[in-house]
Amino acid sequence: MTERTNKPGKLTSVKGMNDILPQDASLWQFFEDTVKTMLSAYGYQNIRTPIVEHTSLFTRGIGEVTDIVEKEIYSFVDSLNGEKLTMRPENTAAVVRAVIEHNLLYDGPKRLWYMGPMFRHERPQRGRYRQFHQVGVEALGFAGPDADAEIILMCQRLWDALGLTTGLRLELNSLGNAQERAAHRHELISYLECHIELLDHNAKRRLYTNPLRVLDTKNPAMLDISVHMPKLIDFLGDTSRAHFEGVQRLLTANKILFTINPRLVRGLDYYNLTVFEWVTDKLGAQGTIAGGGRYDSLIKQLGGKPAPACGWALGIERILELLRENQRVPPNAVCDVYVVYSGGNVVCERAFIIAEQLRDTGINVILHCSTNGVPSSFKSQMRRANASGAAYAVILGNDEVQRNEVLIKALRLNPTNINGSQKRMQTEHLNEFLMNAIVRSSSNT
Ligand code: ATP
Ligand code: MG
Repeated sequence: MTERTNKPGKLTSVKGMNDILPQDASLWQFFEDTVKTMLSAYGYQNIRTPIVEHTSLFTRGIGEVTDIVEKEIYSFVDSLNGEKLTMRPENTAAVVRAVIEHNLLYDGPKRLWYMGPMFRHERPQRGRYRQFHQVGVEALGFAGPDADAEIILMCQRLWDALGLTTGLRLELNSLGNAQERAAHRHELISYLECHIELLDHNAKRRLYTNPLRVLDTKNPAMLDISVHMPKLIDFLGDTSRAHFEGVQRLLTANKILFTINPRLVRGLDYYNLTVFEWVTDKLGAQGTIAGGGRYDSLIKQLGGKPAPACGWALGIERILELLRENQRVPPNAVCDVYVVYSGGNVVCERAFIIAEQLRDTGINVILHCSTNGVPSSFKSQMRRANASGAAYAVILGNDEVQRNEVLIKALRLNPTNINGSQKRMQTEHLNEFLMNAIVRSSSNT
């Protein structure tokens, strides 16, 4: 019998689930820092829920007849105990589950935020992945239009802080209350039945289960009939209309521009009253960078004491893509200083001490380490120092150690504080010199 040799295949990540590589780290960090600053400015608190939840949370929470639950969720049966589990496709349902489970609204409303990976089995393309990342906010226990306006203002503040000042627009709609939706649904179904021959497969399938979703069709062939479909906004009663006007008034008072899009319904069943999306034309078909709205019945629907709420989620990858489009990518600087040294143990020990002292004062330092265990040449150390992105190299040899000196070399532009590009100084002056130099050069870039 001949034995087949199993050549190991090339290992790759799962389709649509991407590695985020070190060269993109600065961009992610810039985004994460900016978003956290914005969230703190509004007093939102972080909540972290598990990535895996019981499947029933999403079927009950998001709705059975939605794109997500029908065809996008990653569900599996736990082979050890038979539980039906799902990788979260979004996080509102899970946050609400946690709020109910831990009775977080017992002492009043809560403003919460989350950030992390979500999973949807979609066709991967630019801006659409199977593992992607969202930041979201949930304002729970607030019924008025002020909360809706607040969460929209938060987005605007974030775009401003990121430098995304053009090319974004806010679309707004109101989905009214359940009675208003029922009245509209009745009319909508009658209208669609009259044009049944024009409906595509999806619209026919959803005609009686989720006709509202037919409103936001992206099928160009159906756009014609969708323009004349009965609009939910025309079915709003006084209370819903007043809420919607309240949101618009606050947005206008804060100089937030918006357009009302009566066809905006959002992909999840839990919304009522205000819904909104932030859209750009710069990302092709995947132009929605954030979406949200009010979901006053979800807490009750998932078994909690009824409480109103609203929130949004934004797609981090799409926003980073927009930052790249707008050339708003920060430099990928890993460290401020690279320490280069050559000599025996004494020099090596001194190099370690100097590097630690610099780190004590908040300076980021890479200390050269050889790759093969043999001391590296001065030239190869300098090559690495240059490639590191550090602003300065601190250089140390036997002579410097004996004289208690260091040599500083400016590696990037802007050596305003160094005559020529090198400077020799006593070791005790190094910290202060570099602290000033680094602050000055970062404020110049
Ligand atoms: P789309 O219409 O583009 O499928 P959606 O309505 O399904 O979006 P939401 O559930 O509202 O999206 O999620 C909020 C945001 O998360 C979206 O506006 C988008 O920026 C981002 N997002 C959603 N799905 C993906 C995905 N598969 N890959 C990358 N980002 C996504
Ligand atoms: Mg989707």
